[in-house]
Amino acid sequence: MPAKKKRYRIGVMGGTFNPIHYGHLVTAEEALYQFKLDKVIFMPAGKPPHKRDSEILPPEERYLLTVIATASNPDFVVSRLEIDRKGLSYTIDTLLELHQIYGPRADLFFITGADAVWELLTWKDADKLLELTEFIAATRPGYSLEKFKKLHVLPEGKAGEKLRPKVSIMEIPALAISSTDIRQRVREGRPIRYLVPEGVASYIYKCGFWKD
Ligand code: ATP
Ligand code: MG
Repeated sequence: MPAKKKRYRIGVMGGTFNPIHYGHLVTAEEALYQFKLDKVIFMPAGKPPHKRDSEILPPEERYLLTVIATASNPDFVVSRLEIDRKGLSYTIDTLLELHQIYGPRADLFFITGADAVWELLTWKDADKLLELTEFIAATRPGYSLEKFKKLHVLPEGKAGEKLRPKVSIMEIPALAISSTDIRQRVREGRPIRYLVPEGVASYIYKCGFWKD
Protein backbone atom coordinates (compact mmCIF):
# COMPACT_ATOMS: atom_id res chain seq x y z
CA MET A 1 0.00 0.00 0.00
CA PRO A 2 1.39 3.45 -0.83
CA ALA A 3 2.31 5.58 2.14
CA LYS A 4 -0.36 8.06 3.11
CA LYS A 5 0.60 11.43 1.74
CA LYS A 6 1.14 14.11 4.31
CA ARG A 7 -1.35 16.96 4.37
CA TYR A 8 0.08 20.39 3.92
CA ARG A 9 -0.87 22.99 6.56
CA ILE A 10 -0.76 26.55 5.35
CA GLY A 11 -1.31 29.61 7.50
CA VAL A 12 -2.59 32.74 5.84
CA MET A 13 -1.94 35.98 7.69
CA GLY A 14 -4.08 38.66 6.10
CA GLY A 15 -3.78 42.32 6.92
CA THR A 16 -3.28 45.80 5.65
CA PHE A 17 0.23 45.82 7.12
CA ASN A 18 0.32 49.61 7.11
CA PRO A 19 2.99 49.04 8.39
CA ILE A 20 3.77 45.46 9.49
CA HIS A 21 4.89 45.26 13.14
CA TYR A 22 6.02 42.76 15.79
CA GLY A 23 2.38 42.05 16.77
CA HIS A 24 1.85 40.51 13.31
CA LEU A 25 5.15 38.64 13.36
CA VAL A 26 4.70 37.13 16.83
CA THR A 27 1.15 36.09 15.92
CA ALA A 28 2.32 34.31 12.76
CA GLU A 29 5.28 32.62 14.46
CA GLU A 30 3.14 31.40 17.33
CA ALA A 31 0.50 30.04 14.91
CA LEU A 32 3.27 28.25 13.00
CA TYR A 33 4.38 26.55 16.20
CA GLN A 34 1.07 25.92 17.96
CA PHE A 35 -0.75 24.63 14.88
CA LYS A 36 2.23 22.85 13.32
CA LEU A 37 1.91 24.80 10.10
CA ASP A 38 4.30 24.18 7.23
CA LYS A 39 4.47 27.85 6.39
CA VAL A 40 2.72 31.17 6.84
CA ILE A 41 1.80 33.26 3.85
CA PHE A 42 1.57 36.97 4.59
CA MET A 43 -1.10 38.48 2.39
CA PRO A 44 -1.02 42.27 2.22
CA ALA A 45 -4.45 43.52 1.15
CA GLY A 46 -4.61 45.39 -2.14
CA LYS A 47 -7.59 47.64 -1.56
CA PRO A 48 -9.03 46.65 1.80
CA PRO A 49 -12.85 46.89 1.61
CA HIS A 50 -13.09 47.97 5.24
CA LYS A 51 -10.44 50.68 5.12
CA ARG A 52 -10.53 53.59 2.69
CA ASP A 53 -8.15 55.73 4.54
CA SER A 54 -5.83 58.24 2.90
CA GLU A 55 -3.12 57.11 5.35
CA ILE A 56 -2.83 53.76 3.64
CA LEU A 57 0.44 53.43 1.77
CA PRO A 58 0.37 52.16 -1.83
CA PRO A 59 0.10 48.35 -1.96
CA GLU A 60 3.62 48.04 -3.38
CA GLU A 61 5.14 49.83 -0.37
CA ARG A 62 3.18 47.73 2.14
CA TYR A 63 4.30 44.64 0.23
CA LEU A 64 7.95 45.74 0.39
CA LEU A 65 7.75 46.44 4.12
CA THR A 66 6.29 42.97 4.63
CA VAL A 67 9.08 41.37 2.63
CA ILE A 68 11.71 43.27 4.63
CA ALA A 69 10.10 42.22 7.93
CA THR A 70 9.83 38.53 7.04
CA ALA A 71 13.09 38.08 5.13
CA SER A 72 14.97 36.28 7.89
CA ASN A 73 12.27 33.65 8.55
CA PRO A 74 12.45 30.64 6.20
CA ASP A 75 8.85 29.64 7.05
CA PHE A 76 7.35 33.01 6.15
CA VAL A 77 6.52 34.02 2.60
CA VAL A 78 4.76 37.07 1.21
CA SER A 79 2.15 36.79 -1.51
CA ARG A 80 1.30 39.31 -4.20
CA LEU A 81 -2.10 37.70 -4.90
CA GLU A 82 -4.18 40.50 -3.45
CA ILE A 83 -2.02 43.43 -4.41
CA ASP A 84 -1.91 42.26 -8.04
CA ARG A 85 -5.65 41.65 -8.21
CA LYS A 86 -7.79 44.45 -9.59
CA GLY A 87 -10.61 45.87 -7.49
CA LEU A 88 -11.29 45.44 -3.80
CA SER A 89 -9.54 42.63 -1.87
CA TYR A 90 -12.00 40.00 -0.70
CA THR A 91 -10.67 37.17 1.43
CA ILE A 92 -13.04 34.71 -0.20
CA ASP A 93 -11.41 35.29 -3.62
CA THR A 94 -7.96 34.85 -2.10
CA LEU A 95 -8.84 31.59 -0.38
CA LEU A 96 -10.42 30.19 -3.53
CA GLU A 97 -7.26 31.07 -5.43
CA LEU A 98 -5.05 29.47 -2.76
CA HIS A 99 -7.16 26.32 -2.93
CA GLN A 100 -6.57 26.19 -6.66
CA ILE A 101 -2.83 26.69 -6.23
CA TYR A 102 -2.26 24.18 -3.41
CA GLY A 103 -4.92 21.62 -4.28
CA PRO A 104 -6.94 19.25 -2.10
CA ARG A 105 -4.00 18.08 0.04
CA ALA A 106 -3.63 21.48 1.66
CA ASP A 107 -5.53 22.73 4.71
CA LEU A 108 -5.77 26.48 5.05
CA PHE A 109 -5.67 28.29 8.39
CA PHE A 110 -6.62 31.93 8.31
CA ILE A 111 -4.88 33.79 11.13
CA THR A 112 -6.50 36.88 12.61
CA GLY A 113 -6.34 38.98 15.74
CA ALA A 114 -9.14 38.93 18.31
CA ASP A 115 -10.52 42.18 16.90
CA ALA A 116 -10.86 40.88 13.37
CA VAL A 117 -12.46 37.49 13.90
CA TRP A 118 -15.92 38.83 14.69
CA GLU A 119 -15.86 41.04 11.63
CA LEU A 120 -15.51 37.85 9.68
CA LEU A 121 -19.21 37.25 9.71
CA THR A 122 -19.70 40.52 7.87
CA TRP A 123 -17.23 39.59 5.16
CA LYS A 124 -18.27 38.72 1.64
CA ASP A 125 -19.55 35.13 1.36
CA ALA A 126 -18.92 34.45 5.05
CA ASP A 127 -20.59 31.02 4.88
CA LYS A 128 -18.37 29.89 2.05
CA LEU A 129 -15.36 31.28 3.87
CA LEU A 130 -16.14 29.15 6.90
CA GLU A 131 -16.24 26.08 4.68
CA LEU A 132 -12.92 26.82 3.02
CA THR A 133 -10.70 27.44 5.99
CA GLU A 134 -10.10 27.08 9.70
CA PHE A 135 -9.58 30.26 11.69
CA ILE A 136 -6.95 30.98 14.29
CA ALA A 137 -7.92 33.92 16.50
CA ALA A 138 -5.00 35.40 18.42
CA THR A 139 -5.51 37.24 21.68
CA ARG A 140 -4.85 40.94 21.35
CA PRO A 141 -4.56 43.51 24.15
CA GLY A 142 -7.61 45.74 24.38
CA TYR A 143 -9.96 43.17 22.84
CA SER A 144 -11.91 41.08 25.29
CA LEU A 145 -11.64 37.34 25.10
CA GLU A 146 -14.88 36.90 27.02
CA LYS A 147 -16.85 36.86 23.80
CA PHE A 148 -14.69 34.01 22.51
CA LYS A 149 -14.91 32.04 25.70
CA LYS A 150 -18.70 32.31 25.52
CA LEU A 151 -18.54 31.32 21.90
CA HIS A 152 -16.78 28.13 22.86
CA VAL A 153 -18.92 27.28 25.85
CA LEU A 154 -22.41 28.36 24.89
CA PRO A 155 -24.11 26.73 21.97
CA GLU A 156 -26.73 29.41 21.43
CA GLY A 157 -26.42 32.39 19.14
CA LYS A 158 -26.54 32.14 15.39
CA ALA A 159 -23.16 33.72 14.85
CA GLY A 160 -21.56 31.60 17.54
CA GLU A 161 -22.93 28.39 16.10
CA LYS A 162 -21.44 29.14 12.73
CA LEU A 163 -18.07 30.28 13.94
CA ARG A 164 -17.48 28.04 16.92
CA PRO A 165 -16.40 24.85 15.21
CA LYS A 166 -14.08 26.68 12.87
CA VAL A 167 -12.28 29.05 15.22
CA SER A 168 -9.41 28.13 17.51
CA ILE A 169 -8.27 30.61 20.07
CA MET A 170 -4.54 31.13 20.33
CA GLU A 171 -2.96 32.74 23.36
CA ILE A 172 0.03 34.83 22.40
CA PRO A 173 2.36 37.00 24.47
CA ALA A 174 0.47 40.27 24.65
CA LEU A 175 1.88 42.98 22.44
CA ALA A 176 -0.09 46.20 22.53
CA ILE A 177 1.25 47.28 19.16
CA SER A 178 -0.91 48.56 16.32
CA SER A 179 -0.13 50.06 12.94
CA THR A 180 -2.31 53.02 13.90
CA ASP A 181 -0.08 53.75 16.89
CA ILE A 182 3.07 53.34 14.81
CA ARG A 183 1.85 55.84 12.20
CA GLN A 184 0.97 58.25 15.00
CA ARG A 185 4.42 57.84 16.55
CA VAL A 186 6.14 58.51 13.22
CA ARG A 187 4.04 61.63 12.73
CA GLU A 188 4.99 62.91 16.19
CA GLY A 189 8.64 61.93 16.01
CA ARG A 190 8.31 59.37 18.80
CA PRO A 191 10.35 56.14 18.60
CA ILE A 192 9.17 53.01 16.79
CA ARG A 193 12.35 51.03 17.46
CA TYR A 194 11.54 47.62 19.04
CA LEU A 195 7.94 47.89 17.81
CA VAL A 196 8.86 47.06 14.21
CA PRO A 197 11.91 45.27 12.75
CA GLU A 198 14.87 47.57 12.17
CA GLY A 199 14.65 47.33 8.39
CA VAL A 200 11.01 48.37 8.50
CA ALA A 201 11.80 51.44 10.58
CA SER A 202 14.69 52.38 8.28
CA TYR A 203 12.53 52.08 5.16
CA ILE A 204 9.75 54.17 6.74
CA TYR A 205 12.19 56.98 7.60
CA LYS A 206 14.03 56.74 4.29
CA CYS A 207 10.78 57.19 2.33
CA GLY A 208 9.36 59.79 4.72
CA PHE A 209 6.05 57.95 5.19
CA TRP A 210 3.40 59.65 7.37
CA LYS A 211 5.40 62.83 7.64
CA ASP A 212 2.38 64.83 6.27
P1 ATP B 1 -4.46 49.25 12.07
O1 ATP B 1 -4.21 49.88 13.41
O2 ATP B 1 -4.07 50.13 10.92
O3 ATP B 1 -5.84 48.64 11.93
P2 ATP B 1 -3.32 46.71 12.86
O4 ATP B 1 -2.18 46.86 13.81
O5 ATP B 1 -4.67 46.33 13.41
O6 ATP B 1 -3.43 48.03 11.97
P3 ATP B 1 -3.81 45.06 10.57
O7 ATP B 1 -3.01 45.09 9.32
O8 ATP B 1 -5.14 45.73 10.59
O9 ATP B 1 -2.89 45.70 11.75
O10 ATP B 1 -3.94 43.60 11.16
C1 ATP B 1 -3.76 42.41 10.43
C2 ATP B 1 -4.11 41.26 11.36
O11 ATP B 1 -3.19 41.19 12.46
C3 ATP B 1 -5.50 41.40 12.00
O12 ATP B 1 -6.09 40.11 12.04
C4 ATP B 1 -5.19 41.91 13.38
O13 ATP B 1 -6.20 41.56 14.30
C5 ATP B 1 -3.88 41.21 13.71
N1 ATP B 1 -3.07 41.97 14.66
C6 ATP B 1 -2.56 43.21 14.49
N2 ATP B 1 -1.85 43.61 15.56
C7 ATP B 1 -1.89 42.59 16.46
C8 ATP B 1 -1.35 42.41 17.79
N3 ATP B 1 -0.63 43.36 18.38
N4 ATP B 1 -1.60 41.22 18.41
C9 ATP B 1 -2.35 40.27 17.79
N5 ATP B 1 -2.89 40.38 16.54
C10 ATP B 1 -2.67 41.53 15.88
MG1 MG C 1 -6.47 46.56 12.32
